[in-house]
Order: sequence, then C-alpha cells, then structure tokens
Amino acid sequence: MLIDLHSHTKASDGQLTPSELVQRAENRQVHFLAITDHDTVDGLVEASQYIKDNNLKLQLINGIEVTTNWLNHEIHVVGVNIDPEHPELIKLIEIQKEKREQRAMEMGRRLAKANIENVYEGAKALAGDGAITRAHFARYLVEIGVAPTFPKVFDKYLSRGNTGYVPHDWVDLAHAIEIIQASGGQAILAHPDAYSLSNKWLRKLLITFKAAGGDAMEVAIGQQSPQMRLQLGLWSKEYDLLASQGSDFHFVGRWRDLGKSLFLPEICQPIWHNWTACQSVE
Ligand code: AMP
Ligand code: MN
Ligand code: MN
Ligand code: MN
Repeated sequence: MLIDLHSHTKASDGQLTPSELVQRAENRQVHFLAITDHDTVDGLVEASQYIKDNNLKLQLINGIEVTTNWLNHEIHVVGVNIDPEHPELIKLIEIQKEKREQRAMEMGRRLAKANIENVYEGAKALAGDGAITRAHFARYLVEIGVAPTFPKVFDKYLSRGNTGYVPHDWVDLAHAIEIIQASGGQAILAHPDAYSLSNKWLRKLLITFKAAGGDAMEVAIGQQSPQMRLQLGLWSKEYDLLASQGSDFHFVGRWRDLGKSLFLPEICQPIWHNWTACQSVE
C-alpha cells in the first residue's frame, strides 16, 4: 500500500494541476495521497472532482503545508485530514496569503534596487492564481538568466541575508498546530532535516513541537540516506511523535516522485495506524 502525505500542485509552487497530480499518483499506484500546498487548500476541490469523474482508486487526503515561525526560523507544518472549510483555517489562510503577497512585492522592490527589474511581475505571472512563493521567484530568475539553477538562485538572491530576502512574519508554530487540529486535522513537522539546525536545536524544535500538541514528524522523505531515515525514526520514538512519510513532490524530475521510496523504519508508529480507511487496504 503506497501512502504519500506531502505533495504540491499549481495551487502553490507545484508544476502540475491538481488533476494531473492525482492522475500521476493513480498511475504510480499510490493509494493515499495528501495534497499539501503552501498555505492554501485551493487545489483540493479540483482534485477530488477529478477523482470522482474518472473513478480513480486513489483516496485523497485533504492537506495543507503551513509556513510558521519558531524563534525566527521558518518551520513547515503539514496538516492532514483537515476540514478545508473550517472558519479558523480559512482565516489563517487569508492572513498568510496577504503576507505572501506583501512579502512578494517587497522582494520585487529589493531586487529592483539591485537592478533586477520586474521580478515581482514575472513571479506573479508564474504563480497565476496560486499562492506566490520564493520558488516562483527562483523560476523567473533562472528563466531570465540571472542564475543557472534553483539552488544557486536561492544561495545568491533568495535565502536569508541575500538581496531578495525579506524577513518573515508567519503564524506562530504552536498556533498553526492548534488551528490544524481545530479543523479536525493532525499536525506533522515537515522535513525536520531541512532547516539547517544543529542537532541541539533540532531536539529543541522536537520538544517544542510535541509540547505544543503536534502529532507527528516526517521520517521518510524519499530522497534521503538510510542513516537519516533511521535517525529521524529514532527521534520520532524518543520524542513520542507518530511517523509520517511524503515525497514533497513539486514537479516531474529525475529523483523525486509520488510514492517513490516511501517506507518507515520498523520501530516507527505510522500516523495512519488508526485511520480506518487504511485498515481495509493492503
Ligand atoms: P516560500 O514558502 O515562499 O518561502 O518558498 C519556499 C519554497 O521554495 C519551498 O517550498 C521550496 O519549494 C523552494 N525552496 C526553498 N529553498 C530552496 C532551495 N535552497 N533550493 C530550491 N528550492 C528551494
Ligand atoms: Mn515548495
Ligand atoms: Mn516544506
Ligand atoms: Mn512541501
């Protein structure tokens, strides 16, 4: 049974439409797929309609990836089994959307001062109606030849301390967990190894996340070393968090794909251990 609880569509910085994403997941025999766009649930309606219209076997899990602030670090919290119509969640999404918009305009102004013009407009055109992210800025800057690759453009222009970086003001980590759970969902600490934290700070984050009522942490991310997967599994046990897995799929590429290389170390208690829908599928 293939389970993938982290993926993106054009509703944020993914490159497939929700319909294309669920069709790809079906083709790859994923049974459970969570769509978890950055600070938006806009892709879910189209995805579930497509699943119905085309009689897919795939079960869609309503999700979101909330960008949060913890001690000035940007920490991502995935919510699964959320109610996308819950008023508190809708309010949070509206606030985050406005923050994204303001930040994007400020990024544009800062880049213009460095003589790179019209980047906001370029990124906005790539984002369309979706949530505007730094990934759209990165794509645009690569397109116009300012930097050759995504990692390079982040290193030079978009990560903390660089010209296009704008200090953030996202929802507080604990508050995001609260809202995800108020909407009926479970809160998962996304890709704990991706924050450039030392082990000491990562442990602090895990303690805070658990104390704030967080449910789970991502352990299997697909593209990772066996040692890292095991280490994350051990931490999930140590800090009494359930274990989750997700590809964080954004686009069709060489390494990452929906459902690819996703399995948990045996010591882990999966987040889906008590999901009734999962018991009936083998
Ligand atoms: P944002 O939430 O607007 O700050 O955008 C973050 C998104 O940009 C992430 O979800 C990734 O898709 C992408 N991203 C962030 N850092 C990097 C990086 N160093 N290299 C490539 N993509 C990145
Ligand atoms: Mn992204
Ligand atoms: Mn993330
Ligand atoms: Mn993600």
